[in-house]
Amino acid sequence: NATQSTRSDRAAISARSLVKTFGAGENAVHALKNVDIDIRENEFFTLLGPSGCGKTTLLRMIAGFELPTSGTILLDGQEITALPPYKRPVNTVFQSYALFPHMTVAENIGFGLKMLGRPADNVQGRVEKMLALVQLEAMANRRTDQLSGGQQQRVALARALAPEPKVLLLDEPLAALDLKLRKNMQLELKSLQAETGITFVFVTHDQEEALTMSDRIAVMRSGEILQIGAPKDIYERPTHRFVADFIGDINILEGEIAGAGGGTAQVRLKDGTTISARLAEGMAQTGPAAVAIRPEAARIAGQGETADLTGTLENVVYFGAASYLHLRLNSGEEFVLRQPGGLDGHDLSRGARLGIAIQPGRARVLE
Ligand code: ATP
Repeated sequence: NATQSTRSDRAAISARSLVKTFGAGENAVHALKNVDIDIRENEFFTLLGPSGCGKTTLLRMIAGFELPTSGTILLDGQEITALPPYKRPVNTVFQSYALFPHMTVAENIGFGLKMLGRPADNVQGRVEKMLALVQLEAMANRRTDQLSGGQQQRVALARALAPEPKVLLLDEPLAALDLKLRKNMQLELKSLQAETGITFVFVTHDQEEALTMSDRIAVMRSGEILQIGAPKDIYERPTHRFVADFIGDINILEGEIAGAGGGTAQVRLKDGTTISARLAEGMAQTGPAAVAIRPEAARIAGQGETADLTGTLENVVYFGAASYLHLRLNSGEEFVLRQPGGLDGHDLSRGARLGIAIQPGRARVLE
């Protein structure tokens, strides 16, 4: 789309063959195993993965708090691997905010600028601009221990943005907020990023948060990046079983590739039916294969329509805008489909045999 194509494709941050091992011998923890990544200028980039996958380690290395065991980190194409944190045009917002409780909001925001030796009127002007950006003008002279969680979060953001870093790192910055406030702050953060044009690198283990906020997401597991892509890519075209499973609901059916060509495989499933599924570039064209299909990429086949799969209805869960139909395939595998509205005209009694039609291109072979 238009915003994507006008966005610079230059890398703000690159990591090359990044390895981080804590400890040695039998007790060694491989926090990062050979990570390669390019984070583009002006993008909202998210590191997503379960606890312990290495997100924070990667972030701390970009900040300069941690040295890699091997590999390099580049900023604007210049190597910064061993540069101390204060010499990097990079700032971090922590989950704990780490505000100075005895200082006012304005003093907190201006603190870093003063430390950088900026003249007082320059600091003053910048603080006012940041206060406006996070809509805390009225709170400038309040002590930060007299603020709500959401307000404290905004002070932490304003303070980190004040020196105009090239890159802002955010380590689960919304985790301490309650659900409603978190949703609001998600939108605020996203527009803050768009307004400032600063590259944001955001860490979360919350897949929904990652999907709604990011320009691109890197999905990590056990120190490795499994897939990088726009939210829609990751959601609709997962290439890896872990990625498919970690993000949203999905049906995964086991089978064997019976033939392949032109980026599509014919996969013979356990119940003997063969379905077409898209292959990602570089995937094996033979052998066992798992096929992933999102519940909303399938619907009940119409009268006289050739079904891709057939199942026995076990359960219907009504959600208003849509219903979830739980079917049992002949292979014994469960299949869930999301049928928007219009259930009339179908036999939805338990045990009914229903044909399943899969949207073209929406069945994907997993690695
Ligand atoms: P979380 O979401 O729980 O913060 P994470 O994805 O950020 O997890 P990391 O904090 O990067 O994960 O940790 C990656 C791995 O490295 C974990 O197994 C962790 O226990 C280990 N690790 C991190 N820091 C150290 C350290 N200083 N010494 C030893 N092991 C460490």
